[in-house]
Amino acid sequence: MRSTMQDHPLNLGDLVRYGTSTHGAAQVVTWTGGEPRRTTYAEVGRRAAQLAHALRSLGVTGDQRVATFQWNNQEHLEAYLAVPAMGAVLHTLNIRLPAEQLVYIANHAEDHVIIVDATLVPLLAPLLGQLRTVQHVIVAGGDPGDALDGAAVQVHRYDDLLSSQPTEFDWPVVDERDAAAMCYTSGTTGDPKGVVYSHRSIWLHSMQVAMTDGMGLTQADYVLAIVPMFHAMSWGLPYAALMIGSSTLMPDRFLQPEPLVDMTVAERPTAAAAVPTIWQGVLAELDARPRDISTLRQVIVGGSTCPPSLMRAFEERHNVPILHAWGMTETSPLGSVAHAPGGTTGDEAWRYRITQGRLPASVQARLIGSDGAQVPWDGTSVGELEVRGPWIAGGYYQVEAGDKFHDGWLRTGDVGTLTPDGFLTLTDRAKDVIKSGGEWISSVDIENEVMAHPAVAEAAVIAVPDPRWDERPLVSVVVAEGESVDATQLRSFLADRLPKWQLPEYWTFLDEVPKTSVGKFDKKVLRARHADGDLT
Ligand code: ADP
Repeated sequence: MRSTMQDHPLNLGDLVRYGTSTHGAAQVVTWTGGEPRRTTYAEVGRRAAQLAHALRSLGVTGDQRVATFQWNNQEHLEAYLAVPAMGAVLHTLNIRLPAEQLVYIANHAEDHVIIVDATLVPLLAPLLGQLRTVQHVIVAGGDPGDALDGAAVQVHRYDDLLSSQPTEFDWPVVDERDAAAMCYTSGTTGDPKGVVYSHRSIWLHSMQVAMTDGMGLTQADYVLAIVPMFHAMSWGLPYAALMIGSSTLMPDRFLQPEPLVDMTVAERPTAAAAVPTIWQGVLAELDARPRDISTLRQVIVGGSTCPPSLMRAFEERHNVPILHAWGMTETSPLGSVAHAPGGTTGDEAWRYRITQGRLPASVQARLIGSDGAQVPWDGTSVGELEVRGPWIAGGYYQVEAGDKFHDGWLRTGDVGTLTPDGFLTLTDRAKDVIKSGGEWISSVDIENEVMAHPAVAEAAVIAVPDPRWDERPLVSVVVAEGESVDATQLRSFLADRLPKWQLPEYWTFLDEVPKTSVGKFDKKVLRARHADGDLT
């Protein structure tokens, strides 16, 4: 028997219509370093309509790709709304990728138009000659100067292009399974791969992001989305905020700890989201120049393991609770969120909160052991996490990657345990695990323990070859400003925190741990540094 329900497709056009009218008064604020630029969803909606008309006038039809090369700002949000809602496909380019990867990605996606921030034109301009399908470059937020003179593309100024266009657009109803947006993984192995989100997947994912036990957004929130709009769709925050009516604070290019604290103090956002390395920096900034950021009722941290010491520091010293979450570009990205179950308090609640969290109903999971069989959800048996669900990728754009999928499940490459009540704890990325004398050592466990030392700002652990044990951990340490500590002291600090056989022998001290394009510890670079067997 069929249901008697209407079969209305889930569509970003409807989301734009709804968010920019019902929540039209909600604020969109872009930090400028001086007076912030303030507008509303209603105005962003009008400008999104103008952008859609302008893109049509440039010949954008069907599912053509419109790329963005932008910081988090008002114009980027306008593209987030206009491009999918008009039926085209938004492609967020990661401005921090190496040139050859950007060229590969833009050609592979066959981008037709690129919207670029004026401040980023110098980064994009040298690549344009190699971009085979790009016909138009639209420069937002200022004057491109002469950097684009002579480029074999048509160059437009964003505001000029929009100014004469109508402020309403009849957003079409498209098939909910059609592409709305695409984002490439950062290509740690081989070429980057394109994940293509549908209208349906984005809609459903936004509902999960907003849910109380998701990221728990409300219309009273003012969300500081630090996580870039080119990193896994800013973790779904722009669309979820529009859906729920949360106001948005966009940091633009001001991503250093000092301006992040400045904007938090001045604008009093209630929620924020970023990778752990950003929060380590904010913590150091607050140590150096104490200020009150406790308007933040919740900070969402994901992208790599959040050290428990960082969570404790924010909560105990700054009265800001951290919510730990796990996800991937391939999972839209929300996979799990670590809310402590009702009724738990104190240390018991902390034990849940430092995990990667609980899987929601729409994310099914299983753990596969090294023999290829499923391992039980008993909180101790370890396996590779595989997931499936309505906002999980089932493939990549125009490439075969059979090894990434397993009978319709996405292989995450993450290794860990699940409890019977669905809490995920990741011990490592499969490729980062240290295989020592037939046993596995979690690089993350060592990092968390070393970072618990008050004199340590950052610690990253990689495997190095060892003649006796196969592999042993090497710890790269960044000492906190004004502190001093050496390897012997750190080893004795670890002595009662880790099993004896896991205690690292190899230590190096750095000014900074190298970071990936999205701000995570870049262990590839560390491995390359020590590939010749130099352990110092
Ligand atoms: P990249 O591969 O460039 O890092 P993604 O942001 O898609 O791009 O990375 C997803 C990966 O990040 C996950 O597979 C996992 O290894 C890691 N990750 C994300 N969130 C967490 C977390 N809370 N704890 C541990 N690892 C995480």
